[in-house]
Amino acid sequence: MKPPVAAEEVFRQLADSLAFNNSPDFFSDLVARLARILAVDHVLISEVLDDRGRVRTLANWSEGQLRDNLSYSLAGTPCEKVVAAKPCFYPSGVSQIFPEDELLQLIGVEGYLGLPMLALDGTPVGLLAIMSNAPLSLPSVGEEVLRIAAAQAGSELGRRRAEKSLVESERRLHTLMNHLPGMAYRCRNDQYWTMEFVSQGAQELTGYRPEELEGNRRVAYVELIHPADRDRVFDQVQASVVIGKPYHCIYRLVTATGQIRWVWEQGQSVTDVDTGDVLLEGFICDITEQHESERVQEAVIQTATAITSRLGDDYFPQLVQHLTRALNADVGLIATFYNEDSLETQALVVAGEVADNIRYTLADTPCHEVIEQGECVGHFDPPRSIPRPGKGEPLLVHSYVGRRLDSASGEPIGSLTVLYCNPAPDLKLATSVLRILAAGAAAELERQSNDRRIQQLAYVDGTTGLPNRIRFMDWLNEELPRSEGRGSALGLIFLDLKRFKEINDVLGHDIGDQLLAAVAMRLDQSRRPEEFLARLSGDEFAFALPDLGRGDLPRAIERFRVAFAAPIWAAGRDFKLAVNLGAAQFPQDARSAADLFQCASVAIHQAKRSDDGACVFDIAMAETLNHRRALAERLAEALRDDLLLLHFQPVMDLASETLIGAEVLCRWYDEQWGWVSPAQFIPLAEERGLIIDLGDWVLRTAALQLQTWQAQGLVFPGRLSINISAQQFGDPGLADRVALLTRGVEPHFIGLELTESGFMRDPDGAVGITERLRSAGYVLSIDDFGTGYSSLSYLRRFAADTLKIDMSFVRDMLENSHDYTIVTTIVAMAHSLGMTTVAEGVESREQADALARLGCDRVQGFYYGRPLDGDAFAERWLADEEPPRS
Ligand code: C2E
Ligand code: CA
Ligand code: CA
Repeated sequence: MKPPVAAEEVFRQLADSLAFNNSPDFFSDLVARLARILAVDHVLISEVLDDRGRVRTLANWSEGQLRDNLSYSLAGTPCEKVVAAKPCFYPSGVSQIFPEDELLQLIGVEGYLGLPMLALDGTPVGLLAIMSNAPLSLPSVGEEVLRIAAAQAGSELGRRRAEKSLVESERRLHTLMNHLPGMAYRCRNDQYWTMEFVSQGAQELTGYRPEELEGNRRVAYVELIHPADRDRVFDQVQASVVIGKPYHCIYRLVTATGQIRWVWEQGQSVTDVDTGDVLLEGFICDITEQHESERVQEAVIQTATAITSRLGDDYFPQLVQHLTRALNADVGLIATFYNEDSLETQALVVAGEVADNIRYTLADTPCHEVIEQGECVGHFDPPRSIPRPGKGEPLLVHSYVGRRLDSASGEPIGSLTVLYCNPAPDLKLATSVLRILAAGAAAELERQSNDRRIQQLAYVDGTTGLPNRIRFMDWLNEELPRSEGRGSALGLIFLDLKRFKEINDVLGHDIGDQLLAAVAMRLDQSRRPEEFLARLSGDEFAFALPDLGRGDLPRAIERFRVAFAAPIWAAGRDFKLAVNLGAAQFPQDARSAADLFQCASVAIHQAKRSDDGACVFDIAMAETLNHRRALAERLAEALRDDLLLLHFQPVMDLASETLIGAEVLCRWYDEQWGWVSPAQFIPLAEERGLIIDLGDWVLRTAALQLQTWQAQGLVFPGRLSINISAQQFGDPGLADRVALLTRGVEPHFIGLELTESGFMRDPDGAVGITERLRSAGYVLSIDDFGTGYSSLSYLRRFAADTLKIDMSFVRDMLENSHDYTIVTTIVAMAHSLGMTTVAEGVESREQADALARLGCDRVQGFYYGRPLDGDAFAERWLADEEPPRS
């Protein structure tokens, strides 16, 4: 046996081997190196398999060579102890100690040292073992070396597993997007969109954030190489895809027509969208040499860490300011296309100061080359003068480095540039740093524009492309004062389709959606240019008619009815449709948008019962409205006089079927009206501005109930989940408000349920609010998931821990394969994001069993228990506290 190597040499060699952990041969390299530097005969790295009783080797080194991988049962082996998270050291005689370990017997092992490989959460995922044929003696630092190696191997294994689940979850995201309401439409109409979205989702899934990425050490770039090397290279790139989180690969794709696209690789296979051909050309290289790389690192880390984690409006000025400082540049700018020939800066820093943004034409600037070539480095001859912001001498610029910014789909979107007054600056450093930061900057640019787009999506109905209800209300609220100013009337017409529900039920949602899109088109054609058309929900549409003249309203109603005289062609067949129409006018019937809406709803309600399916609001109908008004007044009183009640519905852990909390549901019993459903009074409270007070009351009362139970010596396991409405969520001080209202109850007893619509009004603000709630210790869930905008990757930005799957999916999941797929996908996606799932509205054993098979964590529904008042809930569900043992 060779003598063991000296301690510091061991460390140096080990550091070397761990530096190569990007390689697909990580585990085989590691076992070979360990065998050599520790001078042992056998080295194994094994991963624990799912059934826990077996392991499989990831690398198996024995007597000078790498052997085939094998799997073995743990029973009766020293590895069994190691996998129970204990290091085990048998300097000699290990074969006698473990007579049942056939492998040990077979190779005649004497000494054994095994260390567990732990996942981040401390669970053992594998083990690293060294064995010798003679009694085992290690160099002085041998055990430390192994511990480092085991830690490294554990994190590599964790990374590979995460990556596998990432690929899987991406596949599922794809399915999800094709199935969730509002998504299918976009996928059908935009072939590139899906891919873009998947990669965007993947970014969210990896937890990647641009500023984190830039601080990392290894940045792999793909450069163009000769097409003859394509095959070889493709292999390499494939291999590098597993590099994962700390790396960032950009692939350059060349389409059949010679177009170049840059693709952000997050695990998807890189193929031509149209032909399916593999288009990858490139290889991954370390962009910098050793000492150079340290300086680059330093500059990148300096820049990246200085940028605040909040990706808000000042992201770009900060980025450019820190970048110019780190690179000693005199001017720095980030610019995006203003139009085809000119750019507009998003941030401009001159002589250390943020200057006003400017526009400039591409021609005659290095940016032109940057956009064409991807990068441009050089000197101005003669030097150029650039005006200094404010006052003072213009700057004389000698050199520049520019880097193009590309979207995830490979379109150039702008450039990142630094300029130098000094005639001989270090352009190499700047080039490397820009290369690294450009990717993050481009991602952030795209993210910001995606945000705008997503926000816009929140106002556009996905199925028909028409403005949605929120947009319609906004428009109406702006338009009414204008109408009033002009002294003119405004008409509002609601329209819905007769028997649409039957069509939907019989032919399916897909055809239903196609029909709605065709109806929207027909309505849009029969609309006058000044009329505003929107889809309110389901089969409900609305028109606003400004500057209404005498007799215009009945004429418009007739026009829309006639529009449906001819059949509508959708999904390969003709549909003969009839409509209900209800109309009201401002200011005659109502003076506010909400009241006008009410009037039109009352009218269409009436229309459904009439022969001709049309109705214009009149005074008699005002009664119904008065009813609502009276109801609102009673609600305000009930709130003031503390007459509302809380009920509690059990939330169960599905696997153990034990109670782990309850949802708090508000109840109202009115002497005159009887029980009023929250589905009626909660929207009323929102509409009448009572919801904040009501929400406060719920929080306060729920906290009191918890304290009452505790005082009665009852144990409430888990937490109380409280519904928070969108309006409450608009309050930036929500975290403090909740804390104040629930004083005396620890935050971990309280969960908050938020709906997607709560996030959409002001997504950036919402990110901050959820983060504050989370850091205050409240658990957040997203309620009714699947019914709103439903972009999981987008919702990921809000720090929620739990997804509540809407009961509409659960209700039909056993009959409707579409709903089943949605539930499956939501559960799998939520898990890969580390979120817990709660299925709502579970009414049968069969549903519970199906959900358990899908891995859903929690359930709530009539099958387990109906909402009960505090005392009844305690009686049915809460156990007494164990008396202290004496
Ligand atoms: P949600 O948050 O989705 O609450 C769940 C609803 O499902 C409750 O209706 C509950 O009684 C019902 N439910 C539970 N299990 C089953 C089941 O197995 N089958 C069926 N068919 N239904 C089930 P509820 O109490 O009528 O509340 C309706 C909505 O009113 C709630 O929907 C929530 O959005 C709102 N709400 C209730 N209380 C509050 C509150 O305190 N604050 C706010 N902002 N909203 C509330
Ligand atoms: Ca809820
Ligand atoms: Ca819900």
